Amino acid sequence: MKNKLIHNPVHGKLKVLGFASGSGNTLWKAYELQKEMEQTHGGCPFEIVGVFSDKPDSKAVEMAKTIGMAFASLDLRAFHNEHDAALSDLGVRALYDQEVAKLIEPFGADLILLAGYVWATTEALVNHYWMVNVHPADLSAAPYGHRLFAGADGVGDTLHLRQETICSSAHLATAEIDGGPLLMRSPSHVIDYSIPEENQQLRKAVLKAVNEHSRHLGARVILEIAQGKFGMDETGHVRYCGDPVPAGVKVESWSENIPKFRRDLNAMMSPKSVVVIGASARGGLGSAILSNIQDGGFTGGLYAVNRSGEDVAGVKAYERVELLPEAPDLAVVTTPSGAVLEAVETCGKLGVKAVVCISAGFKETGEAGAVEESKLKAITDRYNMRLLGPNCMGVLNTDPAVSLNATMLQHQPTPGNIAFITQSGALGAALLDYAEHLGMGFSKIASLGNQMDVDASDLLGELRDDPYTKVVMLYLETIGEGQSFFKQVSELTKTKPVVVVKSGRSSAGAAAASSHTGSIAGSDAAIEALLEKAGAIRVETLEMAYLTAMSLSKSRTFTGKRVGVVTNAGGPGILITDRLAMHGFELPLLPGEKRDALASVLFPEASTANPIDLVAPAPPEHYAKALETMAESGMYDALAVICVPPATIDTGKIAEALVPVIKAFDLPVICCFIGPTLGAAARTVLNQHQIPCLEFPENVADVLQAMSVKAGRYERGAAAEFEMKNHLVDGGSADRRTARSLMQSRYETGYLRSDAAMKLLALYGIPTPRWHWISAPGILEVEELSFPVVAKIEHPEVLHKSDAGGVVLNIESEAALRLVVQELFNAFPGAEAVLVQEQAKITHEVILGGKFEPGIGHLCLVGTGGTLVELFQDVSVKLMPVCQKQASSMIESLKTYPLLNGYRGKAKVPVEELAQVVKRFSDMIGDLPGIQEIDLNPVTWDASSGQFMAVDCRIRVE
Ligand code: ADP
Ligand code: MG
Repeated sequence: MKNKLIHNPVHGKLKVLGFASGSGNTLWKAYELQKEMEQTHGGCPFEIVGVFSDKPDSKAVEMAKTIGMAFASLDLRAFHNEHDAALSDLGVRALYDQEVAKLIEPFGADLILLAGYVWATTEALVNHYWMVNVHPADLSAAPYGHRLFAGADGVGDTLHLRQETICSSAHLATAEIDGGPLLMRSPSHVIDYSIPEENQQLRKAVLKAVNEHSRHLGARVILEIAQGKFGMDETGHVRYCGDPVPAGVKVESWSENIPKFRRDLNAMMSPKSVVVIGASARGGLGSAILSNIQDGGFTGGLYAVNRSGEDVAGVKAYERVELLPEAPDLAVVTTPSGAVLEAVETCGKLGVKAVVCISAGFKETGEAGAVEESKLKAITDRYNMRLLGPNCMGVLNTDPAVSLNATMLQHQPTPGNIAFITQSGALGAALLDYAEHLGMGFSKIASLGNQMDVDASDLLGELRDDPYTKVVMLYLETIGEGQSFFKQVSELTKTKPVVVVKSGRSSAGAAAASSHTGSIAGSDAAIEALLEKAGAIRVETLEMAYLTAMSLSKSRTFTGKRVGVVTNAGGPGILITDRLAMHGFELPLLPGEKRDALASVLFPEASTANPIDLVAPAPPEHYAKALETMAESGMYDALAVICVPPATIDTGKIAEALVPVIKAFDLPVICCFIGPTLGAAARTVLNQHQIPCLEFPENVADVLQAMSVKAGRYERGAAAEFEMKNHLVDGGSADRRTARSLMQSRYETGYLRSDAAMKLLALYGIPTPRWHWISAPGILEVEELSFPVVAKIEHPEVLHKSDAGGVVLNIESEAALRLVVQELFNAFPGAEAVLVQEQAKITHEVILGGKFEPGIGHLCLVGTGGTLVELFQDVSVKLMPVCQKQASSMIESLKTYPLLNGYRGKAKVPVEELAQVVKRFSDMIGDLPGIQEIDLNPVTWDASSGQFMAVDCRIRVE
């Protein structure tokens, strides 16, 4: 069944407005949580945007003033007095709520938290916002269908009926008091009836206890709504993580299942002590990991657990986890899958903080495995543990203070500055072998496995401040929570390059990926757009990921397009020149006098152009001199040295001559010695000195392209942030409420009626031709339209109108129109209407499209319009929001851009104006995240009037 999320984190932060009559303490508790979470790597998924109070002098308003939070208030009593009505008059209350609705409009809230509000909320509010109320009694008690403890005195009623316990309840508010579906209930407070009832002592004590729970509950429920855990199915029942929860989620204890950011991920990456569960003296996976930990020189305490309790390779072993002398920070679980749950549960009881679950046999195996995995998750949640895996290769941290190799890798990886996060454990292992050849060193390695708990985003957050990590390399098959991933990558790329190889590009690849990891691969265009916007360096192949990460770990990114090449043969010189040109690099020549000076040192046959060709037998000094001349000229942004090893010369000597030159300049230099054997000596020397060395000239050009930021496709993370903000500033300009109510005009198929779609465009300043809606033949009031006009059928089932013969162009008169309208109604029984539009003159057509990609967000597409669109597939796709600058670059990146830009004397389309339309389009979708798909096809441009017009708009909503 469909599950509509109350809030989807992909759409950004949940904006919460608090309603308070008194102190608003429940709200402030949520605010505290917000502030706390804002300090963490993951940030806070919600934001309290303001307070509304029905009492202008309430404590909540005072508090808002003190902390500088926006507030609004309208005196409820005064309002009723003015209307000469009692407070209980719901008619006047409805009027009051209408005023409130206007007052709170500017806050742009998604949800209202009733934080101790005297509420008898009417439809004026309930129909426009999600509203959450926290009630100080157990609303799940409803033996005869109605809630026993609803209403003004839930605590009193609870005591009156001598209930053993009480809890507070969070629910969605409806116009019926305490009537909406339950979301979550607090832990139960056991009522102590020995407290005397005189002077309300018992009542006060219970109220105090339950109010404390209410405050926690309010904050927790807001957090989990913001995280996208709560949804509602078609029958109006609440679902939690997809499952129905008729009595709400019952929290057993505030100390269980605490939010992730409060759990200890550090205990996984830098544990003080480790136990390997399932490591036996008879060998196998567990013992392999144990010896890796030992050989890696782990600095902390180490234990083993196995069935016999026999020590393993000198490591003290125990029969059961609970016999361990201390609670280790980290447990590495390697037992058969059937024993995992029990082992992890015992770890939890003992106080272990983190688990690396190597064992497989969970979600990746199918439905039964998925059930086991959710049980595993429940256990880690109960004990607030973090878990990597299951079904992973382990974790490595070469920080000398830790030196932990809790992996099943064959070799001890060399320490270095690359952090490698991989979704495929097997690939990670095999490629480490290769890493040695390339001279790559690692700061951290983590294999994600099924990502039941710890995912790529969690680890990326940790890497941001890791002084040992210079470059991050990611191998991904799927992207889970796109928004948090995007955020973490954007943050990281501000200071460190992030190289991503994402498989599953083809649909066949995607299918393989989904059966492999048990998750569904997202659309590649969406991921491409996401990575680009986050400033990551996406490479096509694993090989490129390795070469790029290696080069960046020893060198740096650069801006600019000027490359200097030194080589000793014509062939490789041509190959790299071609490849560099393909990437848009330039190869400027040295100035004449420098070339002359260099020529006097080199062999007479040498060329001092770019590439400088030293010729085959050139001795090491020639390489050094040529490279030095280029480096000190200041004319290059990066340099390359390509050598085809000649028979007579020791490549090691060439490398030795190059090293001091490369070290003397702060310029990225990539060397390339062709041949695994001939180039070996050079490679050894260069690896020793941390200088990138490749084997093929084309690779050098590709790696340089990947390393060149800004000049290439990749902008840094800072740009992404700017765009997000830019959007927020402009986002509120349109009349959102009207816009949202227009979104209700939908057919059963989910498509909006065209009149609503046209009105929406107008609201966001996207021009449309003047139009008229004819809902039955005979009614024709088109005086304000000027001819010629176009008539289009509006029918819930006709999506491609012209294909079905439902578009008639060039209608010149009212009489002709009357006829056409009649014919259209006759031809399409069940039609809603005929849309009549003024006919635009068309010089050019473009299309604008938008699509919601689950887990990632909305994509924006700009493309060539008309019949050309299918033929050329000439489109540019970016992740929304799109600012004007980005919109311009999208338009400029189209293959057919020259056609728009005055090709061969054609009229020039004003690109800046079109970019403005694209930006408005992006703003509109940002405001209306319920849009699943939108097509403006075509947007026409008329050279004579200079106007853009969206003549056709199709919108599908949730
Ligand atoms: P559909 O895409 O459902 O077939 P459209 O509304 O896009 O229907 O109409 C089909 C084509 O008719 C458009 O691609 C455009 O070339 C032309 N057209 C539609 N409306 C107008 C208009 N108002 N002015 C000029 N041309 C129009
Ligand atoms: Mg169309």
